[in-house]
Amino acid sequence: MADRPVFLFNSTAERAAVFGPAFAADMPGVDFATDAAAVRPDDVRYLITWTLPPDLARYRNLEVVFSIGAGVDQFDTAGLPAHVALVRMVEDGIIRMMQEYVTLGVLALHRDLPAYLGQQRAELWSALPSRQASERRIGFLGQGMLAQAAMERLMPFGFPLAGWSRSPRAVAGVESFHGPDQLSDFLARTDILVCLLPLTDDTRGFLNGQLFARLPRGAALVHTGRGPQLDTQALVSALDDGHLSAAILDVTDPEPLPAGHPLWRHPKVLVTPHVASVTQADTAARAVIDNLRRHRDGQPMVGLVDRARGY
Ligand code: NAP
Repeated sequence: MADRPVFLFNSTAERAAVFGPAFAADMPGVDFATDAAAVRPDDVRYLITWTLPPDLARYRNLEVVFSIGAGVDQFDTAGLPAHVALVRMVEDGIIRMMQEYVTLGVLALHRDLPAYLGQQRAELWSALPSRQASERRIGFLGQGMLAQAAMERLMPFGFPLAGWSRSPRAVAGVESFHGPDQLSDFLARTDILVCLLPLTDDTRGFLNGQLFARLPRGAALVHTGRGPQLDTQALVSALDDGHLSAAILDVTDPEPLPAGHPLWRHPKVLVTPHVASVTQADTAARAVIDNLRRHRDGQPMVGLVDRARGY
C-alpha cells in the first residue's frame, strides 16, 4: 500500500472545483483525485459518489464510501464489502434547504395555496375558511436530522408538532410517537403530514391508501422523502374523493415524471423536481473533511449508515 491514500471524487466538475482546493488546504495527507484512470486502485481508500462504480472490487483497500447526497438508497450495496463504511451526506446546506422547503410546503398548505391557485386560474375571488396555526397539527414521518431541523423552523409559528419514528425520540416541544403501534394515533392527530423517511424495504409504498385513510378528512401531504414511498394512485384517489385536500410533492416515482402523468396537472398537487434540498459544495467539502479526520483519528463519523437498517 502506498504512503499517500487517495480520495477519489466522482461527482460534478463544479463540485470538484470546490472540494479539490479544500482538500489541498485542510487534508494534506490525502491525495484528491477526480480521474479514476489516473490513480492506482490500491491507493484508493476513500470514495465519494452518487452510485457505486461497476468496477468497485478493484479498490481493494477501500475504507469509506461517502454518498454525495443525503440518502443512500441509490446504492446497490450487495457488492460493497461489510468492512467498508458507508456514510450519508450530513452538511449545513442540505439542512438549511430542507428547512426552507418544509416551511414553504407547510405554510402553503396551511394557507390553502393550491386551492387559491385554482381560484386564480378560474378568475374567482372568494375567501376560503381559515384556521389559526395553533389549530393546524403538523406531523412528521421520521424524526431524524432533517425532520428535527424543519420542526425547529416551524415552532415559532405555533403549530402543534408531532413526529413518528422507529425508536423513541425526545424532541423538545414535539409530541413524539414511535413504532407501528403508535402510528394510528399519530396519524389521527395530523392535519399536514410531512414525510422525511429514508427509503428502505420498510418504507417503500408506505404512503398508501390505508395510511391516508387514518388521517383526518381534509388532511394534506408534503412529501420530501423518496418517490417510491408514495402510492401515486392511492394519493390521486384520496385527493379526488376529498379525503385529502392537497399535496406538495418534491419526489415522485418515476423521476422525472413522464409526459401526461396524472400528477402533472392534478389541481390539488404541486410538484417540484426533487429540489427540496441539494448538497452545497462548500459546506459539504467542510463536512466530508471533518468526517475523514474523525475516521483517521479512529472516531465515529457523522452520518454513518447502519447497513442492516438501511439508513
Ligand atoms: P435520518 O436522520 O436518518 O432520520 C430518519 C428518520 O426516519 C429517523 O427518525 C428514523 O427513525 C425514521 N425511520 C426510518 N425508518 C423508519 C421506519 N421503518 N419506521 C419509522 N420510522 C423510521 O435521515 P434524515 O437525514 O433526516 O433524512 C431523511 C430522508 O430525507 C433521507 O433519507 C432522504 O430520503 C430524504 N431527503 C430528501 C431530499 C430531497 O431533496 N427531497 C433531500 C435530503 C434528504 P429512528 O429515529 O428510530 O432511527
